[in-house]
Amino acid sequence: MSDKILKKDNLDQLLDKLRQDYQIYAPARQGASVVWEQAGNAEDLLWDFSNTDMSPKQFFFPQTERLMHFTNSYEDNQGMVMQEVPEMQHKQALLNIRPCDAKAFTILDKVFCQDEYPCDTYWEDKREKTLLIGLACKDPCPTCFCTSVNSGPHNQEGLDVLMVDLGDELLLKAITPKAEDIIADISDASEDQIKQAENQKQEAEQAISTGVNTNNIQSKTVLDLYESPIWDRIQEPCINCGTCTFYCPTCHCFDIQDETQSDYGHRIRNWDTCMSWLFTQHTSGHNPRGSKRDRVRQRFMHKFKYMPFKLDGAIGCVGCGRCTQKCPVNIDVREVVNKMNE
Ligand code: SF4
Ligand code: SF4
Repeated sequence: MSDKILKKDNLDQLLDKLRQDYQIYAPARQGASVVWEQAGNAEDLLWDFSNTDMSPKQFFFPQTERLMHFTNSYEDNQGMVMQEVPEMQHKQALLNIRPCDAKAFTILDKVFCQDEYPCDTYWEDKREKTLLIGLACKDPCPTCFCTSVNSGPHNQEGLDVLMVDLGDELLLKAITPKAEDIIADISDASEDQIKQAENQKQEAEQAISTGVNTNNIQSKTVLDLYESPIWDRIQEPCINCGTCTFYCPTCHCFDIQDETQSDYGHRIRNWDTCMSWLFTQHTSGHNPRGSKRDRVRQRFMHKFKYMPFKLDGAIGCVGCGRCTQKCPVNIDVREVVNKMNE
């Protein structure tokens, strides 16, 4: 399908069409933060933000999610009765999602739906009912490094539509068939508008001046990296707060707990973090990642060594820079990865 061009003044028509089938969410300013909120009119949409504070992974993998209910029926002797929670009852569209965050979903798809195992149905249900309309980055942050981890400011992976902001107009690229139906009625873009979008892509890519090199990490053995003395220095300032993991669009550790009240309860899954010593604490008291050094090493080894090995080369990082921005002790993922690579 040809690229389309839409005046921002006419965006409400597209939003109205989407609202017939989807609940629409988009980034919105809240004080100094940019958060995901249900979208209002086109005039309320943000166009000049770098990225949302929290990644949109919460739409598929909520911070707290009820997995099932259970009751203990003593009276009629049924014992424990488990009930599934209903599937998501609506379809949702995430508008103005950044390409790095959409790419993160393709990585998490590999985690939650690995070939040899049954798919995580909670993840899969919400993924199938969601439309992703991306907004290309034209002004990357100093902490962005997507171009060195198989992504980019105009990357299309994971998206249904990519929009490029050309000022008063948006250039729309349909990426999947479900997007083609939605934007089919919109006018085709001119050669000049397509060229403007291409120029913006090149300028945004060139504006990303930092990156990571992971070539040697893949050729080194796990033990070479695992036993390297670099971890002594890297782990020193970390306070194991877990901030980096909660903000990260690809971190996916969770814990499952049963919350009970008299004779009924809920099975809940909560985000967890490999930075917490409790995460790997065994009931025996033994903890295989008992030191801070073990836990810091795990986070980086998981993303840059174990995941590519297990998941056909997929690095567990999309270069969004959130962990570097939010870390209270200024640990910079780029420095760590480049040290690993050296
Ligand atoms: S945010 Fe920084 S201090 Fe906190 S766990 Fe992550 S690396 Fe450590
Ligand atoms: S590791 Fe840091 S830069 Fe990479 S995806 Fe996670 S938050 Fe973004």
